[in-house]
Amino acid sequence: MAEKSLAEITRLCADCGTCQSACPVYGVELSEPNSPRGKVNLIKAVDDGRLKVNRRNRSLLYQCLVCGGCESSCPNGVEFNSLMISYRNLVSGGRKIPWLKKMLLFFYQGHVLRRALWLPRLLARTPLKKKLFLPSFQSIDLKMLVSREREKVYDVLLFPGCVLTYFYPKKIAGIKNVLEKQGLTVAFPPKLQCCGFPYLSQGWSDKFASLARKNREIFTAYKFKYLVVPCSTGVLAFKKYYDLPGREVLELSEFMFKHCPEAKIDPNFVREFQGPFTYHDPCHNLKSLKLQKEARHFLEQFGERFRDDDSGLCCGFGGIFKVGFPATSKKILNKKTAKLNESSVGAVVTSCPGCYMQLKESLPIPVYFFSDIFKNR
Ligand code: SF4
Ligand code: SF4
Repeated sequence: MAEKSLAEITRLCADCGTCQSACPVYGVELSEPNSPRGKVNLIKAVDDGRLKVNRRNRSLLYQCLVCGGCESSCPNGVEFNSLMISYRNLVSGGRKIPWLKKMLLFFYQGHVLRRALWLPRLLARTPLKKKLFLPSFQSIDLKMLVSREREKVYDVLLFPGCVLTYFYPKKIAGIKNVLEKQGLTVAFPPKLQCCGFPYLSQGWSDKFASLARKNREIFTAYKFKYLVVPCSTGVLAFKKYYDLPGREVLELSEFMFKHCPEAKIDPNFVREFQGPFTYHDPCHNLKSLKLQKEARHFLEQFGERFRDDDSGLCCGFGGIFKVGFPATSKKILNKKTAKLNESSVGAVVTSCPGCYMQLKESLPIPVYFFSDIFKNR
């Protein structure tokens, strides 16, 4: 959890409003209470007792993707993500999370979803697919990828995260393959849990703590040099909220850039679609981890077929945000879609499983995961 108190963080806010232009929610709702500054002032007022927490202001505080946009643009160093997470855990404590969100969060826990995956797969074939925001599932048996040798020292422990595990497992096989083609040994342990960030960011910190404990036990059971995570939200969770001394945690494109900069792209990749393609920067990559050049180092090798979109526009997914605020999420997505239409691209590549799901389920053009651009998919 954040080391500073709410008052210590909010005190830094000078009410300048610089953060507004960086906020995807404010960008579509255009109201002060929905701006980062409005949210900071709301927390300040509740924290110093001028305002009571009620349904309306609790909802306003949840109408935020915890994307880090405001934090990275704030000249005064207001740690907005920490502020939001601390506040939500303080006022909610896991109890006041709306039932639909809570049900989804409950379901996402590794042990629940592993046993009951047949249910969302079944529902995804019914008209409830849209209502429950279910994607089209991929299906492979991940057991064949599992590393059972615990005495070996692996170069990488691959933590794929819940979206790839449950919805797009073929991508995990692809990522493992890409890493192994670089001559690396890759551990993929069984029974990894969700990193827990969705629970933490929704104010359910005891559930986060139990998932984190289980993941830590698995990490301790394996010997490895790098923890590689193809999801920047997971990287943030591990870096900021896990205690992993001596472990270097790297997002996939960051790892490839640092340790395999010569990895060969697949020239056949661009034969799969017409025209140029672009890259969608996931918010946590761009704004929190400051990863921008890493994926581009590889994408630019496609020459003119790669058309850079440096708008940094959010896709509106935000994990559970999409379930809580579908209308706002849709407006944010529409902005992104308009930008893509304007640049007339024939495909999109991204490196966040959540953005991949959001764009893949919404765009009429092919959407690829970062690992798809390499040889030997
Ligand atoms: S940019 Fe920072 S200091 Fe300015 S209003 Fe936003 S949070 Fe406050
Ligand atoms: S974290 Fe993102 S969505 Fe939330 S207030 Fe800041 S910029 Fe807006």
